[in-house]
Amino acid sequence: MEIENKLNKLITEIAKLPGIGPKSAERIALYILSVSDNEASVLLSSISDARSKIHLCPVCFNITDSKICNICSSSNRDHSKICVVEEVRDLFAIERSGEYDGVYHVLQGRIDPMNHLTPENIRIKELLERLRDGEVKEVIIATNPNFNGDISAIYIGKLLRPFGVKITRIAMGLPKGTEIDFVDSVTLSMAMKDRKEF
Ligand SMILES: [Zn+2]
Repeated sequence: MEIENKLNKLITEIAKLPGIGPKSAERIALYILSVSDNEASVLLSSISDARSKIHLCPVCFNITDSKICNICSSSNRDHSKICVVEEVRDLFAIERSGEYDGVYHVLQGRIDPMNHLTPENIRIKELLERLRDGEVKEVIIATNPNFNGDISAIYIGKLLRPFGVKITRIAMGLPKGTEIDFVDSVTLSMAMKDRKEF
């Protein structure tokens, strides 16, 4: 009984991970139990290492283990262009497409009225702060092409207008209702190239 409780607790915790259903959680739990002590401790120490050493970049809210992330601190990136994404995984997807050479701003979420997520819950204020010194000439809004992504884009677009920067949106050619991190690199790279004034 005791064993079953411990296994169930492990399965329940794994099932909380994004994209993991109960069946996969059970498979992962049994796998963890089957590996050697050494493999299990490597897994545990990678989790605790990542958790203790990785934090959010204070400029763009990407994740980093340095003071400022490698994109913000790179002189090879075009700092006059900011691409606004909802989550770090969207930044990774755009980086994989290889089409973009500017910097990013990760909102850490989206406006989602159904779940009571308002503009104050995401990093919009910090985005506007970044525009104050006039170095930024273009803001590319790359929120997801779905309902919440669209209302977030419209809201942010309105706030950006007074700054006189060029505002573009990449999601135009992307399938409606999709999420950026599920889009393949070729489509994403074309969507970035074909970005339209917003
Ligand atoms: Zn950064």
